[in-house]
Amino acid sequence: MVQYIGTERIKELVAHVGIGRFIAELAREIEADFRRWDDFDKSPRHAVHSPVGVIELMPISDGNEYSFKYVNGHPKNTAQGLLTVTAFGVLAEVDTGYPRLIAELTFTTALRTAAMSALAAQWLARPDSRVMALVGNGAQSEFQAIAFHHILGVRELRLFDTDPHATDKLVRNLSALSLPGLEIVRCTSTAEAVRGADIVTTATAAKRKAAVLTPEMIEPGMHINAVGGDCPGKTELHRDILMRSDARVVVEFEPQSRIEGEVQQLEPTFPVIEFADVVKRKVSVRATGQEVTIFDSVGFAIEDFSSLRYLERLHREVGGTRTALDLVPSVRDPKDLFADLVSTLTGCSAQARGRSAARV
Ligand code: NAD
Repeated sequence: MVQYIGTERIKELVAHVGIGRFIAELAREIEADFRRWDDFDKSPRHAVHSPVGVIELMPISDGNEYSFKYVNGHPKNTAQGLLTVTAFGVLAEVDTGYPRLIAELTFTTALRTAAMSALAAQWLARPDSRVMALVGNGAQSEFQAIAFHHILGVRELRLFDTDPHATDKLVRNLSALSLPGLEIVRCTSTAEAVRGADIVTTATAAKRKAAVLTPEMIEPGMHINAVGGDCPGKTELHRDILMRSDARVVVEFEPQSRIEGEVQQLEPTFPVIEFADVVKRKVSVRATGQEVTIFDSVGFAIEDFSSLRYLERLHREVGGTRTALDLVPSVRDPKDLFADLVSTLTGCSAQARGRSAARV
């Protein structure tokens, strides 16, 4: 049987662990996997584009386990009452090829993206960063806010969204959590939100080359966590921000980021740093407090691999509703798959014969 983690079970697991701790533990899992980067068989994700969105498959393996995620991105969905991003994924054994776990990854993508953002900021932002601008207050935003408060110690959040209802919702949800010592400031523009911030997170959704952040908004020493530009033709940063002489651009997996990230706007030879080299201390990104660090986040398969393994462990350890799926037939003779099916077929035809006999 294949273990199944649906949306109800995720809620149970997050409630059991606590959302701040859940994101922090997941960040450590992701970091541990980035440290063994060379163990992984990696490829850019496979994307099928339409005029309104994208559907992607994200496979990866470390030679022992294999995972993939199915994920979509449809910015116009919210106007129809649907989520912009939904996802599910599978964890399988390389040895037999058998799937072990199938899990919802919609909540999990928001949790792991926030974990990855905070992890990157731990390595890239100035350690005294306490003020974060959060531009784009949609589905991902609470998760980002909680991660940066819990892991980085952010004390002031400066919010802006072109849709004021999105900011209303974010303020309402964060207030309900009563996060200790967190001050929330509503702003009337991106420029106002960004002014004086140590960290700037952009999590907007628009299927176009947007310039949500423009060069004059950027101050020395800032860390930019650019989450929403994650598809060809879908960016958030003006290219001159990336081109600053004091900018250090960090990506997850360079071949994928060149296609999908903010760096798609630049020449293929423009220097970027892979995050694995940062955690393995092959490069040091910030020599002073003055560089502008940019985490050009697109979301890479290793983060979902780490998430599925973390979920599987929690699912085993935490009591509650456990479900398994009969996704793979269990057969007496593996060369006689047909026998299992035919027993049902003959059972059916006997029943059918019984029914027609009764009608006679
Ligand atoms: P969402 O549609 O729920 O929210 C996006 C918000 O951005 C909306 O409230 C919208 O009003 C706002 N917005 C759009 N343009 C804006 C602008 N110019 N200035 C300010 N606000 C603006 O989407 P979501 O699920 O929160 O996802 C946000 C983005 O993050 C999407 O682009 C998604 O594809 C991306 N994403 C990236 C990763 C990753 O790993 N990097 C993971 C998940 C989602």
